[in-house]
Amino acid sequence: RPIVRLDHISKTFSNGTIALKDMSLTIGEGEFVSLLGPSGCGKSTALRIIAGLGEATTGRVEWPTMSHDAAGKPEREIGFVFQEPTLMPWATVFKNVWLPLRLHGLSKTAARERVMAALEMVGLEKFADSYPRELSGGMKMRVSIARALVTRPRVLLMDEPFAALDEITRQKLNDDLLRLWEQFGWTIVFVTHSVFESVYLSSRIVIMAARPGRVIDELSVDAPHPRG
Ligand code: ADP
Ligand code: ADP
Repeated sequence: RPIVRLDHISKTFSNGTIALKDMSLTIGEGEFVSLLGPSGCGKSTALRIIAGLGEATTGRVEWPTMSHDAAGKPEREIGFVFQEPTLMPWATVFKNVWLPLRLHGLSKTAARERVMAALEMVGLEKFADSYPRELSGGMKMRVSIARALVTRPRVLLMDEPFAALDEITRQKLNDDLLRLWEQFGWTIVFVTHSVFESVYLSSRIVIMAARPGRVIDELSVDAPHPRG
């Protein structure tokens, strides 16, 4: 079942850069898709357009099964993880993860449970009262993942989330992400320029090329991991 469909998306920035040319892609529910390609091929641009953080110049993004708000945007069902953890340094881990819930109208108790559940998923429940500066890079990234998951989105969009981490931390986070995906059945779209990471993680790899950014091929991966 398709969850999101990119229909002939092109993006030209105001300085004339053609970041994406005629990209079409259908992502099915529960898929772990990576967008793989060299720097500058439009991966982030595509992800931001999927998230509604950027507008396509031409083409459409469709969410056939999602509920929409009055403005026609898919509601609260997307979690976004950026390459930089972008945590608020003055707020505790708890407060950072709670933030996306503040407009959700949950009771204090329910919001607290949600935050603690999200922190447990990423193994940081003991660090709720810590501040970002007290955490390692890997732990900060786990906090951003918890923050993206706290609204219980159906789709998790990740923009080179582990690129700034050392190899060992990165591999640990890859394993944890796979475990969570297998357990919870989200749809994940994962941007990377690492062939290894895309093969290791995803069920489908969308290969992109630059100048202009476009899709050149797709591969299904018969992963060694137990799925589902
Ligand atoms: P990737 O994520 O694959 O590295 P991007 O989507 O970030 O690629 O960028 C695609 C192209 O669009 C690049 O040439 C980049 O320099 C350009 N680009 C990205 N954002 C902007 C912007 N806001 N204004 C102008 N050009 C941009
Ligand atoms: P991870 O990828 O699991 O975050 P790290 O190398 O960042 O790996 O940390 C390994 C473990 O060391 C963490 O899971 C945590 O339990 C502990 N740790 C790291 N930094 C701190 C800290 N500042 N305070 C307490 N424990 C820490």
